[in-house]
Order: sequence, then structure tokens, then C-alpha cells
Amino acid sequence: MGSVGKIALEEHFITEELVPYAAGNRPTRDDAVFVELRRRLADFCESRLAGMDEAGIEFAVLSATVPGVQAEPEPERSVGLARRTNDRLAEEVRRRPDRYGGFAALPLQDPVAAAAELERAVTQLGLAGAMVNGHTLGHYLDETRFDPFWEAAESLGAPIYLHPTDPVGQPAMFAGRPELNGAVWSWTVEGATHALRLIFGGTLRRFPRLRLILGHMGETLPAVLWRIDNRARAVAGRDLDREETPSWLFRRNFWITTTGVCDPAALMTAIANVGEDRVMFSVDYPYESGRVATAFVEAAPLSEAVRRKVCRENAAALLGPKGPLWSPGRDEAREGA
Ligand code: ZN
Repeated sequence: MGSVGKIALEEHFITEELVPYAAGNRPTRDDAVFVELRRRLADFCESRLAGMDEAGIEFAVLSATVPGVQAEPEPERSVGLARRTNDRLAEEVRRRPDRYGGFAALPLQDPVAAAAELERAVTQLGLAGAMVNGHTLGHYLDETRFDPFWEAAESLGAPIYLHPTDPVGQPAMFAGRPELNGAVWSWTVEGATHALRLIFGGTLRRFPRLRLILGHMGETLPAVLWRIDNRARAVAGRDLDREETPSWLFRRNFWITTTGVCDPAALMTAIANVGEDRVMFSVDYPYESGRVATAFVEAAPLSEAVRRKVCRENAAALLGPKGPLWSPGRDEAREGA
């Protein structure tokens, strides 16, 4: 990698006010590890920057950890909570604009307020887009009530990162098997399904210029696009035009990150199926290890040109002028240095 620092996009924090909402977000039975995770989530300074330095990450886009403001049952309270969360995030970004960007938290309990908050976050606070932590009180973003939010996201050109969360209730397929909850499996189902709802539900036809991000190597979707197309054709009972196929919409509107999947075979599959311009390195701090993620991407069987795209250039292109790091010419100047 030499001197070219990585950009990471799924790097989480928590504020004191958000702690009660995250009571169910307990990714380990080890109490000491859990306490350390919470400490790192709340820290914007020493341990976070040390972890970034150790992993060769120059710039991290920070986001509130799951479930965040979307778990607040009162829509009116969620609006203030999101504003305070984003104000705090913007303060940290302003303090270290060379190291941090931010994905806003949105009060999707009220789609019109969420649209307004996204606009405020991007145009006034200088944040890069937004992180959506799965469904909002059981509602998914393909419902047409969310169209005002999508209209804002599209017209701002703001990337929207779809992060998974716990499914609502306890679907029978998970009953009696708590081992399958969370990042082991149920989150993958929730996150992939959210993306497919936007594809099949018409959201991407109404808003063709959306820029969406999925973590965890695309929540398995890059590996199953062929099957989804094939069976969608069978259900339709006719050949689909290229632009009607789910895989075409996926490749047009989605970018993916490598969070939590440090497997070279999965990376090569993702690059083969969604393209070398759409796959971006990230860690999922503090839940995953920056050191492991870095060792993985630096050893993966990629050409140096593709490795640079995955580690930095694809993210820089997606975040565009929102990132203070990549004004035109800066990368070229660095490489010459
Ligand atoms: Zn995450």
C-alpha cells in the first residue's frame, strides 16, 4: 500500500444519549470485551486514532452504532435526538477534518423530517451522507411514505449506507436458535432483504440516481445475483429486458464494503460480480479488527491498481467533494511524493 492511506466507511460511535437504545446490541457474552467495545465506541480520540494509524487508515467516515435514533418510538423525540447526534458528530469532524467524515443519523420515524435532517447534515454540517440502521420500527424504505426522504437523498447526491439490524419480532425460522441472531446470520438476512425490497419494490425506478452502500461484502448478494435474475425471469414467465433485471439495478445503484468479511474468495466473487469500481475497504470499528482487515486486503490477490481502488479511490470517488481529503490533484501529488 505504501504511503496511500485507506478510507474506511463503516466505523461506529455511540453518544451517551444513544446508549439506552443499544441495550439489545450485545455482540459478545464476554463482559470484559463488551465493556471495552462500549469504551471504544464512545471515544473519538486516542484509541480510535491509534487503531486507524495501526491499520493504515487515513480517513474514517463515522456513524452511530445500531440501532441508534431509529429505535426511538416517539417520532417527535427522534427528530431532536437525530439533530443532537449529528451536531456532536459534526463537532468531531470539524475537530479533525483530515481524519474524520460523518454519516448522519436520520429520524426516519418521520420521513419528511428525515429528508430535512439529511439536507441540513449535508449542506450545513458538512456530513458525507447518512447511515440507515435497518428498518425503522418495522418500516422498510421501499414504502412510498419514504419517497420524500429518497427525493432529498437523490437531489443531494448523498450516499446512503444501509446497515442491518435485528429483524422485528422473532421469525419462526430463528425461533429457539439464538445462536443465529445478530451478525452471525439474522442481520445478513435483514440487510440483504432491505436492499432487495428497494430493487423489487420500485424505489430504484422512481429514484434512479440513488447511491446506496451495503456492508459485509454486500450482505451475500454479489454471490447470488445470477440466481435472483434467473428466478425473477421464471416468475415473470418471460425474458426480462436487461434494465429490468435485479442484478442490473444492483450494479447501477449499489456500492459494497468489505466489513467483517476478510475472505479473499468472497472479495474476488464480489469484484467479479459487481465490478472493481464498486468494492470498498472498511473495518466495522470497533466490532472488527482493523489489523485483520488490513492484513486481508493487503494480501488479497489483486493488482496494485485494483487494490488502490478498493482501499481508497472508489470511496474517494463516491464521497466526492464532501471529503476534504481528495480535492483534485491531491492523490496524484501524494503518489509522486
Ligand atoms: Zn457495522
